[in-house]
Amino acid sequence: MDQTTHAWIAVRAIALLESTKADENLVSFLLLKASLPAIGAWIPELIDDKRGGSKTQHHVLKMLPAIKPSDNFGDRFVARKADLLKRMAGGLEIKKFLAADTSLSDEWWARPYKANPRPGQNFADRAMGLASTLRDLLVIGDPVLDILVPGRVPFLKDTPPDALARANQAALYFFMLSHFVADACMPCHCDGRKLCGDDEGLHRELEGHWAGIVGPAFDDAALTGPKAPATEELIKAAKAVDARAGVRFPDKVPPMPYERDAWLEVVDMARASFAVMGIIVPEALCRYDDEATRVKFGQAFDPNDPKKQKLLKDVTRVALHDAVVNTAMIWLDTWKSVWKN
Ligand SMILES: [Zn+2]
Repeated sequence: MDQTTHAWIAVRAIALLESTKADENLVSFLLLKASLPAIGAWIPELIDDKRGGSKTQHHVLKMLPAIKPSDNFGDRFVARKADLLKRMAGGLEIKKFLAADTSLSDEWWARPYKANPRPGQNFADRAMGLASTLRDLLVIGDPVLDILVPGRVPFLKDTPPDALARANQAALYFFMLSHFVADACMPCHCDGRKLCGDDEGLHRELEGHWAGIVGPAFDDAALTGPKAPATEELIKAAKAVDARAGVRFPDKVPPMPYERDAWLEVVDMARASFAVMGIIVPEALCRYDDEATRVKFGQAFDPNDPKKQKLLKDVTRVALHDAVVNTAMIWLDTWKSVWKN
């Protein structure tokens, strides 16, 4: 997703936690730092600037079925539809969308699919790394943080103030975490076919379509420049996107399912997003071992075909709604994990 969309997802997740009264202290903290998502939610893409290159796709979980006869994934990588939808968090649009779908056959769902991300690229690992780092960081927060995180740590009174975790740092970690959660909701990041590549038309144009819906109010320059909006205005602007995206958010942030964590949720979200990609570009149009076929955005979402236009609306709603809801859920679970067993 583009910087604009990532920033909106993080701000909209703050607004969702606020409107659902999910946790007063977490909301106070995030509202205090609501100007930072433009930076924090985009940090995972900035490594290219340091390296002086423009290599993309550093965080993906792109799945494929066994292609070579030597690929033997076994049952571990099978996720049948009913099982997958049952174990994922409640209230996600992707569950309704896949439950209603009839285009992916039982045979499709019965196959194992596996991703082979390069070391350090797996976005589920990166989300989990940040969630567990945050949990520890929040234990030794500076006074701004410490007053908001329930519980007391006697050790803190002897800790030099400059060794305490700064509130800004924790906020950046929350927003970075939102980046990886959001990427799992982008179907092209979860499908290993060449046509889903970062620089392929379909991928770029779908992300561009979403950035157009979010609008320029969430560009980094608008959020961080001299005319940056006040927090209240920013939250209002984030909510104004809902109607354009065809999204209605729930009255309650769903709880993290029992005995689940950020890693499991992100892996399953990626599997579900991979299925969505299999609906956007069916195997009949481009097989999983097909390296040559490309499908243009206008072909996948043909403007003259009402069914394809509905698909575009559905895919947009699913991705944007679930990116926000999953982010809010994982933030809330991370925050509570500090002081709740
Ligand atoms: Zn990314």
